[in-house]
Amino acid sequence: MIDVPMPPDDPANRPHWEAARRSVLLIQRCPACGRCRFPAARSCAHCHHVGGDWIEASGLGVIESFCMFHKAYWPAFQAALPYTVIQVKLREGIRVMSNFVASPGKSPSIGLPVRARFDPVRPDLTLVRFEPHV
Ligand SMILES: [Zn+2]
Repeated sequence: MIDVPMPPDDPANRPHWEAARRSVLLIQRCPACGRCRFPAARSCAHCHHVGGDWIEASGLGVIESFCMFHKAYWPAFQAALPYTVIQVKLREGIRVMSNFVASPGKSPSIGLPVRARFDPVRPDLTLVRFEPHV
């Protein structure tokens, strides 16, 4: 088992993490204005409506920014060096931070189309990462 840092055990975001274990990307959507958000929030930042619905996201987006890490800030990531952290803008209009999983001939670049993949790293944790999508 890899000793990766765990996301906070926040009941508000449990639907997202439970869905990731089933290879489903859930994000929250405001039932009043339709805008999406993640992480979950009690109310909409745009229209202030309280509450939100969970929807299945496409898992498709583009890289808006990325950074290559050459230092392991957690010992569990030492073997993964260097690794790439990316900001992805999903088709649903929200931005998420994640990792880039390279494929032959595909390096991270701004504007690169990516799709979500679901990587179990522990029995109780599946991370949503992104890979090139052509
Ligand atoms: Zn709203």
